[in-house]
Amino acid sequence: MNKILIFGNSGSGKSTLAKFLQSQGDHVATPAYGYLDLDTVAWWPTSPPRRLPLEKAQLQIQAFMSQHSRWIIEGCYTDLLQLAQHEATTALFLDLPVALCQDHARQRPWEAHKYGDPAEQDANLEMLLQWIADYPHRDDELSLTAHNAFFEAFTGEKYRYTAPLMYGKCLCEQVVYTIEGALGPVFHCHCLKCRRWHGAAFRTRASIQKSQWRWLKGEDQLGDYMSSPQVHKYFCKTCGSALASSYDNLPDILGVPLGGLEGALKIPSQAHIFVDSKAPWYTLCDDNPQYAEWPGSEAKVRETHA
Ligand SMILES: [Zn+2]
Ligand SMILES: [Zn+2]
Repeated sequence: MNKILIFGNSGSGKSTLAKFLQSQGDHVATPAYGYLDLDTVAWWPTSPPRRLPLEKAQLQIQAFMSQHSRWIIEGCYTDLLQLAQHEATTALFLDLPVALCQDHARQRPWEAHKYGDPAEQDANLEMLLQWIADYPHRDDELSLTAHNAFFEAFTGEKYRYTAPLMYGKCLCEQVVYTIEGALGPVFHCHCLKCRRWHGAAFRTRASIQKSQWRWLKGEDQLGDYMSSPQVHKYFCKTCGSALASSYDNLPDILGVPLGGLEGALKIPSQAHIFVDSKAPWYTLCDDNPQYAEWPGSEAKVRETHA
């Protein structure tokens, strides 16, 4: 996953995903990703805007690719994506529902590289929302049809996401993962095993369907510790980060800790479980329900949203 193309409708979260993949801690050994937003090579700086001739855009894209051993190119221009596909290792297609993309567009902070001031961005919003709505119905190079064809033809590693994404990395960033769609009920588990595994007062966790989870990178870095006869705990063998749990008796389910997830998440309501084993030095001071052990049953903790 060294040369990544990210594409999809406007508002599908392309630049948010790119920024997450690109962001790095201080001690990470791998070189950072170079980043190219195709908006910056698609247009003449004129009003009304006019597309830059393909040959000129190609020169800029070639120059960018030759400057970086690892890169992310992000945008909705299939004609420009095609200029980079021969070098790309990975294609990430954010094929999200139109209404969700429109919500993202409404919530978008001021994009200083595109609009002179926030008022100018607001004035453009109605047009943008309509443009997003037209995505499945157009047939130009910026359309769902073009993205579908590009994705199908891409021969490298590729993923299509159709539900909102959450994502995280291990501490050393060799392991990168995504969760697609909503979480099951969220519990803060105070049992001794969770406290030991996380080295923390408690573990905040939810269950998901295994199909919602994707190891984008570093699956070969995983250690697998069986904490009880049916339960596997996966962790990064280099940095020790706790990543996911699986259960032999529930092969379609994963347990995921939420502490490693990034971004502005909307986490559903929560409860404390196994508070009888709580760290004596930690005081619960929120209004979430508390359970001495399981919240009625273990099955409740293994429930997923999907
Ligand atoms: Zn790691
Ligand atoms: Zn626990």
